[in-house]
Amino acid sequence: MESVPELLFIAGEWRDAKDGARFTVEDPADGSALAEVADAGEGDAAAALDAAVAAQAAWGATAPRERGELLRSAFELLTERRDEFAQVISLEMGKPLAEAAGEVTYGAEFFRWFSEEAVRVHGRWMSAPDGKSRLLTAKRPVGPCLFVTPWNFPLAMGTRKIGPAIAAGCTMVVKPAQQTPLTMLKLAELLSEVGLPAGVLNVLPTTSAGPVVSALMADVRLRKVSFTGSTGVGKVLVKQSADNLQRVSMELGGNAPFLVFEDADIPAAVDGAMVAKMRNMGEACTSANRFLVHADVAGGFAAALGERMGALRVGRGQDDGVQVGPLIDAAAVDSVSKLVSDAVDDGARVVTGGERAEGKGHFYPPTVLLDVPPTAEINAVEVFGPVAPITTFTTEDEAIAAANDTEYGLASYAYTRDLARTLRLAEKLEFGMLGINTGLVSNPAAPFGGVKASGFGREGGFEGIEEYLDTTYVALPAG
Ligand code: NAP
Repeated sequence: MESVPELLFIAGEWRDAKDGARFTVEDPADGSALAEVADAGEGDAAAALDAAVAAQAAWGATAPRERGELLRSAFELLTERRDEFAQVISLEMGKPLAEAAGEVTYGAEFFRWFSEEAVRVHGRWMSAPDGKSRLLTAKRPVGPCLFVTPWNFPLAMGTRKIGPAIAAGCTMVVKPAQQTPLTMLKLAELLSEVGLPAGVLNVLPTTSAGPVVSALMADVRLRKVSFTGSTGVGKVLVKQSADNLQRVSMELGGNAPFLVFEDADIPAAVDGAMVAKMRNMGEACTSANRFLVHADVAGGFAAALGERMGALRVGRGQDDGVQVGPLIDAAAVDSVSKLVSDAVDDGARVVTGGERAEGKGHFYPPTVLLDVPPTAEINAVEVFGPVAPITTFTTEDEAIAAANDTEYGLASYAYTRDLARTLRLAEKLEFGMLGINTGLVSNPAAPFGGVKASGFGREGGFEGIEEYLDTTYVALPAG
């Protein structure tokens, strides 16, 4: 941890907070202090935005190839330092080292993808339908951006925004989650090392998210806000963006259904369920939240999933062989624990797990529940923990209606061998993403994002860079 920066990163310099405040970053495995990090206030936010604004014109005018090659260098260095970054992610967030290394690979891939996209930004030249004028369009960077990121993927939720912003020629201020600011500070150091000019990226760890973000959004020079986090905070930020009509991208909460039809390959569905449920200990917006399984196959699916989940090794993320780390804090364990005990009170049966761990650290065991009533609270809210509640259905229409019966619309999953059904699901499920016979939808080359209360905007894919570009249209007479 000694090598991880603990200060604010503003205008290419490491600075203390103006009032000298610091806060403690804790290890969720035992509550011990990992670092004392500078705690930004509104004055620091103003300095960070000044730096981003000052750097914008020159940065937006750099050659796309230059920005692309800088991202490529960042991809290579991040890949080379995968283990170092994985240690920091695992320590501050709790996930096992292998998962943390997976996050580094995934997070770095956004830099590689957008290094390739930087040189493909283009406008068009067309004739007006009446032939009397030429219609030209050009793309330009939106301008200084604010990124607010959550604790569950301390690196990748940042690189998904930073990659396309750099490629498009935008400058930025990043406010990482207070529970996991160290990874982002380390990333700022790496980007500086590969030559990102001062002021293009500024990082503000803070315990005053509300006031700091409000102060930044109250400034008309800020042109874009991209937020990943809960739907509740997302709604607050969308309202705040109205005053200065900032562009917004919202990657919010999810309540992913995982459908298993009677014709599914059940062992494959169990493999997929392990990924969709247990990636990041269930602390992911894409996490399978509700298992909807055909009544004919539910017993076998539950038994096989229970066996696999029950065999996982729970412990400190940095220990050998650990597959499930601690949850982020005590409140997370309380919330998961209450959802499980309420479901059991409502009639659910425990296949495995179900009892919170004693002792230090915020641990909760992998848990499978069968016969969960459709109306149980656990089916309505984000569980954000290693719990798989299984509810049964008998017809496809019933399964689709149950899957769509949520305010959220981020990821969804289905296991079936029927092609016609697959196409019906793609048309009828109200989600931004659908995995068919796979438990993993995240891919930097694909447009990640949701509908309904899961937000709007897309990260990754060809769509990702559009979030950071404005269109200018030029009219010219023909001839
Ligand atoms: P959160 O409480 O909404 O926090 C997210 C970020 O917002 C943190 O940096 C937080 O700062 C900040 N924040 C909190 N209150 C704020 C306010 N009033 N104004 C401005 N910023 C504020 O969410 P979380 O618990 O960290 O993350 C879990 C949530 O994120 C889940 O709902 C999950 O589904 C969602 N998520 C979505 C995606 C996606 O791509 N759709 C990906 C990952 C996670 P502090 O740390 O100081 O509270």
